[in-house]
Amino acid sequence: MDLVVATTNSNKLSEIKEIFQDLPLTIFSLADVSMQDVDVEETGTTFAENAYIKAAFYSNVTHKLCVADDSGLEVTALNNEPGVASNRWHPGTDGEKNQALLNRIATAGDRSARFVTVACLLQEGAEPLYFEGVITGKIAEQPSGSAGFGYDPIFTPDGETDTFAQLGSEYKAKYSHRARAFMKVKDHLVTTTSLNKSPKN
Ligand code: IMP
Repeated sequence: MDLVVATTNSNKLSEIKEIFQDLPLTIFSLADVSMQDVDVEETGTTFAENAYIKAAFYSNVTHKLCVADDSGLEVTALNNEPGVASNRWHPGTDGEKNQALLNRIATAGDRSARFVTVACLLQEGAEPLYFEGVITGKIAEQPSGSAGFGYDPIFTPDGETDTFAQLGSEYKAKYSHRARAFMKVKDHLVTTTSLNKSPKN
């Protein structure tokens, strides 16, 4: 079975490939379908709307089963901002965004936050299916670690003392918001398609 994973973010792509690695799926990145330079504007106001916009666009063009995700960081002290605007609420590099966020909550007593992913799975002509993954945690006092991307250096999952960027890709592949959403996608594919059948069956 072919599956287009609609992202240009190589970190996301490798996290997602790791989750699907034991399934007999042929995964196509946007580069594999020559669409890495085609940008789709995320005009939705929710993660689900943006995930659908991306999945619909790429499934229309490729005619393949397509999964797209939209993710973001919700910070309690900022009324759940930056949320869907996580990649554009502040200009500059990831490091500059992280510092700006730390500055904004410098005096906040509550440092709780959560990462959210909504994945939209879409087969052309069928109803879209949505899968959500959430991980709760705290915004660290300062950036730490070098793995991953985005807000990874300033997010410490509940039950941990290290940030996502210190915990690394193996941890994220098991427990992150994206992993939790994509494991639901995986369960869905296994239970509703022939992917769970070995060639001998
Ligand atoms: P996207 O729209 O799903 O690509 O995510 C929007 C933004 O949220 C990204 O540009 C990152 O800043 C942030 N983000 C999403 N997922 C993660 C993650 O796993 N770690 C750190 N930041 C993330």
